[in-house]
Amino acid sequence: MDRYAVMGHPVSHSRSPQIHALFAKATGQLMTYERIDPEPDRFEAAVARFRSEGGKGLNITLPFKERAFALADGQTARARAAGAANTLDFREGQVFADNTDGVGLVRDIVQNQRFMLQQKHILLLGAGGAARGVVLPLLAEQPARLVVANRTAARAFAILSELKASGTITDDLMGRAEACGLEDIPAEPFDVVINATSSSLTGAVPEVPQGVFGPRTLAYDMMYGRGQTPFLKLAQTHGAPYLADGLGMLVEQAAESFYLWRHLLPATAAVLQQLRAELG
Ligand code: NDP
Repeated sequence: MDRYAVMGHPVSHSRSPQIHALFAKATGQLMTYERIDPEPDRFEAAVARFRSEGGKGLNITLPFKERAFALADGQTARARAAGAANTLDFREGQVFADNTDGVGLVRDIVQNQRFMLQQKHILLLGAGGAARGVVLPLLAEQPARLVVANRTAARAFAILSELKASGTITDDLMGRAEACGLEDIPAEPFDVVINATSSSLTGAVPEVPQGVFGPRTLAYDMMYGRGQTPFLKLAQTHGAPYLADGLGMLVEQAAESFYLWRHLLPATAAVLQQLRAELG
């Protein structure tokens, strides 16, 4: 049995063991997948121990994504662009870091929601770890414009300057991205408005101009839960017709990690449907 796990602190809430068990069953893979909750100062030691016990790969969640990236021997371009890893793959005696959050988001929008991003105007709210992970994959879809807006404007500017410095993006794509504070968001309708802030966790919403939601806008909240999130309620009130939460992103990023480890891309629709039914 090949052994995998998700590491985070805390990690008891993680749905990854269930998702990977469903993928493994559907694809006939013999593997186990557990939760590991190391003390924050023992993260690197916990990774080393898991490897020495024969572990094949890890998913990494808060607050360890940057440290997972830093301890790897090699990183994919999308992990370098994010400066953070949510997936570690142990092979040939080395540690490889990847970040599958962005491809998970893009696949959920493009394939599951059937919403093309090419030449679209995208507003990305937030500049934490989640936003950092999705900027390069969003730009790779060739939107007309990507505005990264954050409550603390300096963090939005930092994401773009670090992305440029990472050497993972062309000048053409970089030229489509801009940063600002929430108060400086252009009050015009965007095709897609993505909430990558953690505001919904506290029942709050980021303060954005009403005009960003138009009659064809897809409002996407990376957060998910029972019922509609506060951000999606706001978007609907302001006229956005298309609404999606982050459950699909969660399942799609897991599928990409599974692919990295097992070289098989599992079907996601049934898994997403099951999780959605369980959420109620
Ligand atoms: P971080 O803690 O790294 O970043 C939080 C961000 O939210 C910051 O940009 C912060 O702004 C902003 N923020 C917090 N509260 C407010 C508020 N009231 N108004 C405006 N902005 C606010 O979190 P992450 O980036 O890791 O996660 C963000 C969200 O994405 C979480 O809800 C998480 O659950 C979700 N997520 C979902 C995934 C999925 O697969 N569906 C994957 C990863 C994350 P400031 O910089 O000013 O403090």
